[in-house]
Amino acid sequence: MRAVDVIIKKRDKGILSKEEIKFFILGITDGTIPDYQISAWAMAVLLNGMTDQETTDLTLAMAESGETLDLSSIAPVVVDKHSTGGVGDKTTLVVGPVVAACGLPVGKMSGRGLGFSGGTLDKMEAIPGYRVNLSQAEFLGQLKSLGIVLTGQSADLAPADGKLYELRDVTGTVPSLPLIASSVMSKKIASGAHAIVLDVKVGNGAFMKNLEDARRLAELMVAIGKLSGREVIAVLSDMNQPLGKAVGNALELKEAIETLNGKGPADFREHCLSIAGYMLLLGKKAINLASARKMAEESLNSGSALEKFRQLVIAQGGDISFVDNPEKLPVSENHLVVKAERSGYLTQVHAQTVGETAVDLGAGRAKKGAPIDQGVGILVHVKVGDHLEMGDPLFTIFSKNTKDAKKAEIRLMSALKWSETKVEPLPLFYGVVGKV
Ligand code: URA
Repeated sequence: MRAVDVIIKKRDKGILSKEEIKFFILGITDGTIPDYQISAWAMAVLLNGMTDQETTDLTLAMAESGETLDLSSIAPVVVDKHSTGGVGDKTTLVVGPVVAACGLPVGKMSGRGLGFSGGTLDKMEAIPGYRVNLSQAEFLGQLKSLGIVLTGQSADLAPADGKLYELRDVTGTVPSLPLIASSVMSKKIASGAHAIVLDVKVGNGAFMKNLEDARRLAELMVAIGKLSGREVIAVLSDMNQPLGKAVGNALELKEAIETLNGKGPADFREHCLSIAGYMLLLGKKAINLASARKMAEESLNSGSALEKFRQLVIAQGGDISFVDNPEKLPVSENHLVVKAERSGYLTQVHAQTVGETAVDLGAGRAKKGAPIDQGVGILVHVKVGDHLEMGDPLFTIFSKNTKDAKKAEIRLMSALKWSETKVEPLPLFYGVVGKV
């Protein structure tokens, strides 16, 4: 079999067999298929799609491309969550500690930024010393002793996804239903969690732009999870406007720490409580969603979630003084406050535009492996439905220099749409796929 023939078959809208998919994934894993062929294949998949059977075969081949963890010796139920990617989505930083503080172990392998969406690892690395490359033995040891791990994908787990993910980020091949489903679920299957809450984002700042596609992605991922013997549900959540206020690595980490301190933006706190509630329910820590949510709320209010986050940072080598004094986090000093030039109601705060502007400021990557700037980003002070007066703050831009800030200002102004008449706020959620 030749890689080029598999690419040609997909380019010509063919259906790949299980053997062809396995061959291609093996070639990605052992390095015999070069980056340019992997990228061409990913583009063919993005343009021509895959059947559900192909996506399932792809997911299982990717999950089997490395080792698979068995977490049964750690606890009867280990829970995980995964977001399909959004703007300002720092949920993991809060719900991981919240759920772990309620006594349900959370073993989380996170990713870096992808396209215009941020990545948990890039955010955590704003804490000097924090290690995101734990070995498998360290992962298991810490999960058992502390009940929480937040690290990168180890090279041994779903290595095919590791390579593909990096290439997709810089080849325009992220927003593909089969590539997202297989990327997310291969990691989840390989990393061994028994119960998984998927946060499927929908809207202009998500990779799934409409509810129909998001629901299809959610259904497919839930079905693949079930096939692998996992308890999976997917929450469909809004990503038409950024989540919370902060977009950019150190800024988002700061906002997550504020939220763990019982403050933080209302929408973000509410989103975290809902996701944590579903994790606790799926992990059988509560009998219904209302009591699961209450447990989550108590762990935020009592400070036990913050304490769990502190223990996590210490365990993974981070300098705890940056958590205790978040003003030490490396946020750029160069900042510009953008103010409203009119009054009215906001009908749009275009999340994708905000995300792309943050990437342009240096918060994300344009090339594989490129460094990012932890300190740049945007605070978004407004939400759809807000009524604003002229002069009210819209955004604060944190940039390397004034020229970048001015460019970002023009772009951010195009993210907003206004109305003279009252506008309803956007919902946080659109529904749940799968049974608890
Ligand atoms: N998260 C992932 O892990 N993979 C994707 O493709 C998108 C979001």
